Amino acid sequence: MERISWNQYFMAQSHLLALRSTCTRLMVGATIVREKRIIAGGYNGSVSGGVHCIDEGCYVIDGHCVRTIHAEANALLQCAKFGVPTEGAEIYVTHFPCLQCCKQIIQAGIKTLYYAEDYRNHPYAVELFNEAGIETKKVALTDLAVDYHFQEKEAYIRKVLDELKSQTNNTSKYDALKAEAESLFNL
Ligand SMILES: [Zn+2]
Ligand SMILES: [Zn+2]
Repeated sequence: MERISWNQYFMAQSHLLALRSTCTRLMVGATIVREKRIIAGGYNGSVSGGVHCIDEGCYVIDGHCVRTIHAEANALLQCAKFGVPTEGAEIYVTHFPCLQCCKQIIQAGIKTLYYAEDYRNHPYAVELFNEAGIETKKVALTDLAVDYHFQEKEAYIRKVLDELKSQTNNTSKYDALKAEAESLFNL
């Protein structure tokens, strides 16, 4: 049996967290790790108890949604809330951090940043990471796939089945295909 690597394991955790995002403009996840232990995780979302972008729509000012706290900040604030040191820790993020998160990561004493995807990598953020001596490494998630399109796929299968139903006289064949689709998808 092949074991999943630490990098893949922690990055998979960040992708899983991203699925909890409440702002669909960009679904981001962040995992903070110390000595190969996960100490905190976050995703981009509203303040606790607040309304969600997915329910109310985004609150956009100057092209940015201002309602959400970014995944990296949420993970760092979780450490602040529960008194967990972040000095010397590593962070795994699904997307290269924005300038604000970059500064917060540096100030929290994070030593290594792993990111899965480039995202408008700001040259000043890159410069700040370099100056602070923070290692930035791109680690794509390859061992485990997270399917972000499962809802569209289910809708598509439903559409194909409806179309098939309207065109076929062979109901037993249709019923068999439908039963098979139902066992594979959440129809
Ligand atoms: Zn939003
Ligand atoms: Zn950010």
